[in-house]
Amino acid sequence: MFPVSLRFQDTYAPEDVKKGIDAIFRDAWRGYRALRHGDTVLVKPNGLSAKPPEAAVTTHPAVLEAVTQLLCDHGCKVAIGDSPALQKFSTVARKAGFERLARRYSARILEFDDPVEIAGPDGGMFRAFEISRRCLEFDRFINVAKFKTHSMMGLTLCVKNLFGCVPGKRKAAWHLAIGEDRRLFGRMLAELAAVLPVDFHLLDGIVAMEGNGPGNGTPTNLGVLLGGENAPAIDAVAARLVGVNPGELPTCAAASEIGTGPSADDEITPVGDPPLASPFPFGLPDPTRTDWGLPGFLKGTLRRFFLPFPAVNTKRCVGCLLCRDVCPAGAISEREKTVFIQISRCIRCYCCQEVCPEDAIVFRRRLFS
Ligand code: SF4
Ligand code: SF4
Repeated sequence: MFPVSLRFQDTYAPEDVKKGIDAIFRDAWRGYRALRHGDTVLVKPNGLSAKPPEAAVTTHPAVLEAVTQLLCDHGCKVAIGDSPALQKFSTVARKAGFERLARRYSARILEFDDPVEIAGPDGGMFRAFEISRRCLEFDRFINVAKFKTHSMMGLTLCVKNLFGCVPGKRKAAWHLAIGEDRRLFGRMLAELAAVLPVDFHLLDGIVAMEGNGPGNGTPTNLGVLLGGENAPAIDAVAARLVGVNPGELPTCAAASEIGTGPSADDEITPVGDPPLASPFPFGLPDPTRTDWGLPGFLKGTLRRFFLPFPAVNTKRCVGCLLCRDVCPAGAISEREKTVFIQISRCIRCYCCQEVCPEDAIVFRRRLFS
């Protein structure tokens, strides 16, 4: 059985957030009371890109502060780390409000660099992963994810947040190696999550992101915090909260397949507040709505002809070329001061849409429009 704690929390009022997270730790973290003075703890937020907290792109600083404060109350030494796709984490930390709170609690801000190889799970599909050495250097590791939509994967929750342990541009190599197969990408993420030494996972869904996330969606108040020791179980509960069948989420489906997560709702023990009677209304990303709506016989090789492809809204584009720099397939180039996407090379990973600071990457359909 997988215990998952759910707490309703409407706002980021610091005292209430701290109380809610303390309750979640007590509900669902067996190691909470065993924390010792002097323990070193690594906290990994969602640090996707340098956006202010109200954009809901990154874990809210009030959640991160409550976690840091509770750990410091136990005498722990905290470090906050991540590896954004393109920027330095210190840049993201400044804009997202992490740096200020880190200073307040003498916590270090860490770049997830210095790659080291760790073995994949026994009997897994992936032999090894390159992760940042920092992820192996602490007594405890807490994953503090953000509840968001994700154009390729549907939702990004606790399992997907751990992809940030793969340093910088090495993430692009995974996209290129796996291509368009989101089921296989989910399998890779589930296997990575299974071998990382994470003690506890928290999910910040007080203000979540719907629409075309994870970088340019719409903030929406869900008013929930979730936590537990098993990331796929938390993700399954979170998916149900917004009306998504966990079996449709590639990460949850893969975790259930390899036995590292629940394969049915009755394998999850709900603790904390009673669950909702009906799901929150919630907007999924355009490509996900298309993909999940396709009949089974089209979900194979023909899928790529139905999935939307990225296009540039030239009125919004400022020519920063971050999309070109992140594109794992080398499908984006600059031609006569405009950005050009070569669709025949595109693997529909939507990384360009994820990093565009101006929301200038839009989705177009080849056959449906
Ligand atoms: S990332 Fe966005 S704004 Fe920057 S060049 Fe690409 S489309 Fe234009
Ligand atoms: S153009 Fe965009 S969606 Fe296509 S491969 Fe490049 S980053 Fe991925």
